[in-house]
Amino acid sequence: MSNNLVIAGETIAPGQRMRVNLHVARLYDFTEMNVPIEVVRGKKDGPRLFVCAAIHGNEINGVDIIRRLLGHKALSKIKGTLIAVPIVNVFGFNTKSRYLPDGRDLNRYFPGSADGSLAAQLAHIFTTEILEKCTHGIDLHTAGFSRANLPQIRANLSDPVVQEMAHAFKVPVLINANFVDGSLRQAADERGIPLVLFEGGEALKFNEQVIRCGLQGVLSVMRTIGMLPRIAKRTPDEKEDEKKKTVFVARSRHWVRAPYSGILRSETHLGARVKKNQLLGSVSDPFGGDVFEIRARKTGIVVGTATLPLVNAGDAAFHIATFEDSGAVEEQVELFEGKVGNGKSDRFLN
Ligand SMILES: [Zn+2]
Repeated sequence: MSNNLVIAGETIAPGQRMRVNLHVARLYDFTEMNVPIEVVRGKKDGPRLFVCAAIHGNEINGVDIIRRLLGHKALSKIKGTLIAVPIVNVFGFNTKSRYLPDGRDLNRYFPGSADGSLAAQLAHIFTTEILEKCTHGIDLHTAGFSRANLPQIRANLSDPVVQEMAHAFKVPVLINANFVDGSLRQAADERGIPLVLFEGGEALKFNEQVIRCGLQGVLSVMRTIGMLPRIAKRTPDEKEDEKKKTVFVARSRHWVRAPYSGILRSETHLGARVKKNQLLGSVSDPFGGDVFEIRARKTGIVVGTATLPLVNAGDAAFHIATFEDSGAVEEQVELFEGKVGNGKSDRFLN
């Protein structure tokens, strides 16, 4: 990769920090739509990492993760280049929606095309102006509307660089996820660009612990790939963690669905360890009658939940991931909540 970096026609030299607007479209009222980007180039050469958020316009935790990253003092020591894209789907962000104005999901249209739908055009601009100019990527998401996710990494763990980045994020749950067709993650993989996807929290909310966790994760990846100096020598504890890290890779995952329509009451929480047949919640009529229990099919960790207590039969209620040793994962989740805690609550999302 040449040392020359041009984005949206602007040349960004080593040692320079610059805000650029990537023009993506014009609305029918003739308003110009731009994706705002900040580029931070160190004087010394190194990796080129993009960190992007709000590919789904209503997933805004990542927007604040990037705001805090750009204000972080560590960036004064950066080697290589950080390309921060806090809002990829500017259309959905402005309408508080996951989608583009025509209802398309941008993350199904990568790598896109110059003369396709608006989604395909936006994906194409992102692919050619950002993705293909980078050596590494981090894509920040939250759960979809009316759901919440435990902070987790989804990545292709069979790629050794991706695996290293995933572990560097230091979240207790890693999911070796299949590629979704048309996703940015798939387009990155096809181009040999290692990318990890961080998921945490809820749409249209700022979840303080999730934001802290995402920021620490991004900084930690930057240290691991050599963009920032490592903090200190590794402690014996960390070496021990290193040995155990495969413990946090999920073996499988599944959604437990509401058996009947009604009002859902949860008896568990994100990050909890649930045993096979344990009560997860119940669905009842509005008077509390006709109670139907929802029980765990397998022992595992609750990595996602519905947040809207009104369910139709078949609606996803609890996302359970199974592990070789779910007790160790639960312990790690608790430790982790303590580390990123905001002092007000020990639990994610309360
Ligand atoms: Zn998303």
